[in-house]
Amino acid sequence: MKILVISDVHANLTALEAVLDRTGEMEAVWCLGDLVGYGPDPNECIQRIQSIPHIVCLLGNHDAAVLGEIDLESFNMEARQSAQWVKKTILPENLEYLSKLNEITTVKEVTLAHGSPRNPVWEYLLDTYSAASNFDHFSTRLCFVGHTHLPIAYQLQNGSKIADWKLLKDGDILELTERAIINPGSVGQPRDHDPRAAYAIYDDDTNTWEAHRVEYDIKSVQKRITTAGLPRRHAMRLADGW
Ligand code: ZN
Repeated sequence: MKILVISDVHANLTALEAVLDRTGEMEAVWCLGDLVGYGPDPNECIQRIQSIPHIVCLLGNHDAAVLGEIDLESFNMEARQSAQWVKKTILPENLEYLSKLNEITTVKEVTLAHGSPRNPVWEYLLDTYSAASNFDHFSTRLCFVGHTHLPIAYQLQNGSKIADWKLLKDGDILELTERAIINPGSVGQPRDHDPRAAYAIYDDDTNTWEAHRVEYDIKSVQKRITTAGLPRRHAMRLADGW
């Protein structure tokens, strides 16, 4: 079965629609958290995600912040402003949807978490050391995470405890022969200097992971960010993919 894996939509409906248009209807969609924060379309994104058949969606740190489960003091000033705006803007039924999301789950023998299996909502896997030490914290062969907004794969070398890493570019195909922790990158706010929306296709029959990018109308999102009175930096960085 081919599964669409997405993460960090961050209230960017235009980017989300571009991904869903490109892939068409999939047999399953796994979304690894952070539906809200930074972007201008929190309600629209939550409603669009709910409308997808066979969706599995997890809780991210920005979602948890809006639910009041995380102290906003732990966010930088602009992320905090954005979270406060979402709190004012979000509809009660959408807040309720966020409140039902799990921090970590296992589907089809893959562990899914927003940040890491060890600390699902918070930990950033930014280096091989932190990735390698997380392999003891899940029992499946594969784990998919988001949170860093970087499309990257950490694979153990020949059953050892040492992890290799590879940044994934559009069109890269990985054969998943070893235990691995993989990130599809961010739909709504990429941070690998490629401004296109990132997503991945995991095929559990061929045991492969395909990294993909799709262009979307960044200017229209920037305009909505500015009109909403959200921090300008969140609009600017979309154009740089950073
Ligand atoms: Zn995020």
